[in-house]
Amino acid sequence: MSNLYTFMGGIRLHYDERERGALKRSITVMPAPSQIEITFPPHGQTSLSVGDTVYLGQRISEDTSVKPIHSSVSGKIGEVKRDEDGYVISVVIENDGADTPDSSLEPFSKKLTEATPEGIVDIIRNAGICETGEGLSVARRIEIALGGAKRLMVDCTECEPFLATRGRLIIERATDILNGAKILLRALEMPFADIVVDNSDIGVIRALEAAVGNNPLLRIRVADAKHPQGDKRLIVNAVTGKETPVREANAQIGYVVFSAEACADIFSAFSKGMPQIRRLITVSGDAITESKVLDVAIGTRVSDIIDFCGGYTSELNKVVCGGLMRGYELISYEKSVERSDYAFLFLTSKYKTGSKRSDCLRCGKCVKNCPMHLIPIYLANASKKKNISKVLAMGLKNCIECGTCTYNCPGGVEHVRYIRRAKEIYNSNQAKEAGDE
Ligand code: SF4
Ligand code: SF4
Repeated sequence: MSNLYTFMGGIRLHYDERERGALKRSITVMPAPSQIEITFPPHGQTSLSVGDTVYLGQRISEDTSVKPIHSSVSGKIGEVKRDEDGYVISVVIENDGADTPDSSLEPFSKKLTEATPEGIVDIIRNAGICETGEGLSVARRIEIALGGAKRLMVDCTECEPFLATRGRLIIERATDILNGAKILLRALEMPFADIVVDNSDIGVIRALEAAVGNNPLLRIRVADAKHPQGDKRLIVNAVTGKETPVREANAQIGYVVFSAEACADIFSAFSKGMPQIRRLITVSGDAITESKVLDVAIGTRVSDIIDFCGGYTSELNKVVCGGLMRGYELISYEKSVERSDYAFLFLTSKYKTGSKRSDCLRCGKCVKNCPMHLIPIYLANASKKKNISKVLAMGLKNCIECGTCTYNCPGGVEHVRYIRRAKEIYNSNQAKEAGDE
């Protein structure tokens, strides 16, 4: 395939049939378990109490957040967990199995051309639609893009081993993604969208091409399957050659990128009136019995997902929430699926990232491959010494935590661990200065 779009740096990761096995199987709809636990963001509030009845799709958060939360089942409130200040941490719901919908749910009944940008943003906001990964509010991102961005891009790339969520979504529900992109075009008052896909699987590209057809509103752009192609700044960079400066959003240089999942969720909110109550999740790794892409109710616990996938093998070393490169290690199987989640990987020690040896061999690989043009080993060393002003001067805020430096390092240096710690210290210092602590 010629003329692939790409950015400078990054790495090509190894794929084999086993690692992307979930891509070969259809999405499995997992029935919601008998009890779910829906996690609230910080400072969460609800007016619901133990014993109250809730319906499928009913709003259960009461705060003024741009990310309202809805029940993914019908049933009764079993418990409201609060922190020491009284804010809601999570709500446990006993599922009655009836999936009785909330009476307020209704699809958008007019033609799209009759919708105003403000009306579209309201529907998306009320549906609580969030991006995977960062968990950012899609409505808020549209508002930021309005007035600045001139070009819409839809991220259909998926460049990490094991991940198959987006690939299956494209193969089975490409039309939903494209319909969501058309709604975004209307909201943003833009003429066309670039649909960016990588070249890691020809079946995924073919499915997109078939769905797009000759539609003049949509243009497919095929990118080189390198990690971290899925970063929004790097998608813009790959397709246009332009770099988004530090501390600025893509919209400031005229672009806005939404994920394929966000587009499909937007279409669901319009066509069914359904808020975001389910997520597609890749369950994979070399230590899970059956790898699958699951369509799960938000609030489903990882322990239930493990049972549904036939359990894990005795060689399990760790469970990663997210991708192999950018995910974090789970410390409890009681964690519930949230809107930002997209994968749980069950891994043997073959994928152990830590290393007893941790010496820089001065090979320069981390510098060469950093897509943000940083010097990762310098950042790691300054972070290790907690020299925050130095690490800031070296570009701490520009690090996207893609993990490319750590993955590549023959000396076993865990750059990302130290960089994340430096960011935590910096954020905590900022909060203290602002009087938040
Ligand atoms: S990749 Fe590792 S060994 Fe090579 S320069 Fe960077 S930190 Fe040093
Ligand atoms: S320094 Fe940050 S952006 Fe650069 S490769 Fe490492 S994790 Fe990625």
